[in-house]
Amino acid sequence: MARMGQPQVFDTVIVGGGMAGSIVAARLAEAGDRSICVIEAGPPDRHPWIHIPAGYIKLVYNPAYTFPFKTEPGPGIAGRQIATVQGRVLGGSSSINGFNYNRGQRADYDTWAQRGNRGWGYAEEYAISRHVVDALVLPIFEGVRPILTLKVVARALLG
Ligand SMILES: Cc1cc2nc3c(=O)[nH]c(=O)nc-3n(C[C@H](O)[C@H](O)[C@H](O)COP(=O)(O)OP(=O)(O)OC[C@H]3O[C@@H](n4cnc5c(N)ncnc54)[C@H](O)[C@@H]3O)c2cc1C
Repeated sequence: MARMGQPQVFDTVIVGGGMAGSIVAARLAEAGDRSICVIEAGPPDRHPWIHIPAGYIKLVYNPAYTFPFKTEPGPGIAGRQIATVQGRVLGGSSSINGFNYNRGQRADYDTWAQRGNRGWGYAEEYAISRHVVDALVLPIFEGVRPILTLKVVARALLG
């Protein structure tokens, strides 16, 4: 580890520790063969509301954790400026988002794949959704068994 003020050199520098940046950093770290630097504009994700479902309502207009962007006024929105807030914190917008989870239609994914996007078809997407549900979502519902069985939750999320 270098001392403060000393220049450091990394194999990969990722600007933005939001959803995409954090995933890329994690995948590169798992490969284990290179040094990685993630530069994040915002603070760490320690605020309690970040970790409470629907807590984002309390943070979404807090400029300590968001970039309070607005659209340009335009005729289609009656000259108004519409808030287009973005997360400015470790985890990015995923730290201040609503946890809503929707899967697309089978035909949408397969159309993407047919247009040349290898790996974006329904079968590949299903495998990733299955992993997300098994690893991240079902453990949350462990506590409410047997009122809501894990099978019912998985069926609702995966179809
Ligand atoms: C209020 C809100 C609610 C949402 N609700 C949902 C939901 O319920 N379900 C859902 O699926 N999606 C939701 N989304 C969308 C979802 O969170 C985003 O699509 C997703 O987080 C985008 O990921 P990203 O990596 O592209 O950007 P982000 O996650 O926003 O990450 C960008 C990161 O880059 C950092 N950054 C920016 N500029 C710089 C710079 N110059 N230097 C260093 N760092 C910088 C930012 O601080 C941020 O951490 C919501 C988004 C918002 C804003």
